[in-house]
Amino acid sequence: MPQLFDDTPPECPECRERTATPIIYGDPSSEMVQASRLGDIVLGGVAAEGDMPAWLCSCGTRYED
Ligand SMILES: [Zn+2]
Repeated sequence: MPQLFDDTPPECPECRERTATPIIYGDPSSEMVQASRLGDIVLGGVAAEGDMPAWLCSCGTRYED
């Protein structure tokens, strides 16, 4: 299966790691559900306006680009 989400994450503001998982908002496609099961993405659901962090770090921090 090709890597759908291969962007290098920006640095985490807490721990400086670049291993964060992208958070995808909105109604997930079947590919997105599959990717979330594989741990390639996190499904964020429908986010409140103005509260849509793009990345979830392994340390638990959610942050923007
Ligand atoms: Zn972190």
